[in-house]
Amino acid sequence: MSDQFEAIVLGGGPGGYVCAIRLAQLGIKTACIEEEEYGGVCLNWGCIPSKALIANAHFYEKAQRMAAHGIEIGGVKVDPPKMQEWKDGIVKKLTSGVRSLLKSGGTTIIEGRGKLVAKNTIEVTEKSGGKRRVTASKAIVIATGSATIQVPGFEFDGQTVIGAREAVSLRKIPGHLLVVGGGVIGLELGMVYQAFGAKLTVVELTSGLLPGIDTDCVKVVEKNITKHGGQILKSARAESIEKKPGGGAKVSVSSGGKTEVIECDQVLVAVGMKPRSRGIGLEDVGVNVDARGFVPTNERCETNVPGIYAIGDVSGTPMLAHKASKEGEVAAEVIAGHHGAKDWVTVPGIVFTDPEIATVGLTLDQAKERGLNAKAGRFPFSVLGRAMSIAETDGFVKVVTDTDSGRVVGIHIVGPSASDLISEAALALEMVATAEDIAMTIHPHPTLGEALMEAAAASIGQAIHVANR
Ligand SMILES: Cc1cc2nc3c(=O)[nH]c(=O)nc-3n(C[C@H](O)[C@H](O)[C@H](O)COP(=O)(O)OP(=O)(O)OC[C@H]3O[C@@H](n4cnc5c(N)ncnc54)[C@H](O)[C@@H]3O)c2cc1C
Repeated sequence: MSDQFEAIVLGGGPGGYVCAIRLAQLGIKTACIEEEEYGGVCLNWGCIPSKALIANAHFYEKAQRMAAHGIEIGGVKVDPPKMQEWKDGIVKKLTSGVRSLLKSGGTTIIEGRGKLVAKNTIEVTEKSGGKRRVTASKAIVIATGSATIQVPGFEFDGQTVIGAREAVSLRKIPGHLLVVGGGVIGLELGMVYQAFGAKLTVVELTSGLLPGIDTDCVKVVEKNITKHGGQILKSARAESIEKKPGGGAKVSVSSGGKTEVIECDQVLVAVGMKPRSRGIGLEDVGVNVDARGFVPTNERCETNVPGIYAIGDVSGTPMLAHKASKEGEVAAEVIAGHHGAKDWVTVPGIVFTDPEIATVGLTLDQAKERGLNAKAGRFPFSVLGRAMSIAETDGFVKVVTDTDSGRVVGIHIVGPSASDLISEAALALEMVATAEDIAMTIHPHPTLGEALMEAAAASIGQAIHVANR
């Protein structure tokens, strides 16, 4: 097999594999190196597996309350091993799909761990242990993603103390799950097991859950956790853990000068992800890595070393699959000599809690901090016919508008299908839409999208189905 390519992509996650496919489409002779499984964190143990479990948790939760709607579903039970089989089937379908897309598009698949040994050369340690060197005449793209951060004293043991990777593969529902970290991953996975009957305790170091997200949206999720018996400890630190011989643990948690010991069955540590930029030869060939481990790039995804690009989680926040994929496409276009730039207005973000939160652009506070004369219009799902008919009435849509220009600068949704509704919101921001544009667009009835139309109208005092304030 030839070891000479025009471009080599290191890492086959949603950044790397998309970049490799696009490069091959653009006629560039490309190889993509992956040490684990194509699809990266996203397909193997991140976005997709977690969302499959979240969807199941939602079915289960809904089935239990259907009697009030006149539908009796008797004997609803959770079968964790079967659920895992089903989830693994989805993962397999998607990861093998990525492999065949790469192959059929003409990308050479190289399995093994890659390390830069020169500006245009990667040494690959193959799964067999053998070594091979591959060179790129045009470009090397670093797409090595990110890895889970561990907390000293709470190192993963795969049984009692686990990370997200293990949490998406549990074959038994824990009686009591203690989650260290009230961010996106901790809350998403914590709420899955809460829905399946686990007692949930969330220990968060800062004074609020989901930092950076509209606080009114966060309150709705918080209320749902506590409504179902969950405990949220804010400004609290998980200090130490004592594992019990027969399984389970006692976790010492300090807050406000006091320490309490919480007994639980499993501890999920979810304090974030760190870029995988170490040990791959970046510094040896002169690529800058910042203090947090990210590889800085310009709007063309170029690092400081000509011919070396970086995309996805390893190149900076937000650490999201869709941001990684878009950067993959930008890098491919640039390498092929086309116009390509990271010139998007905003990157939507979603938290797949119950209910879901989805946001784009600025919160009201952020807009005001930037000196905008901003106003928020809000429409609750509790008064929307469609939301009532699907029995999902928690939450609202909030549209933040700059009243001087009429431009929408942020949209924040907490509620049913927020993850789907946000695409219209993202398009609105990209197209520099005004609140009037959204309000005047006919939204079909009865749909959840009407809430977005009404919230936009509310931000300019024109809502019909809610009082304008
Ligand atoms: C539990 C969880 C849920 C998530 N849910 C969502 C979600 O709902 N939506 C969303 O947008 N994002 C979500 N994310 C984040 C998302 O998974 C990442 O942003 C995304 O996977 C980043 O893509 P990437 O290509 O940059 O890196 P990765 O997906 O991390 O892929 C990098 C790949 O490079 C390989 N690699 C690394 N080093 C080497 C090397 N030296 N040689 C060869 N191969 C190497 C790795 O094995 C890996 O396959 C979630 C993450 C987690 C952990």
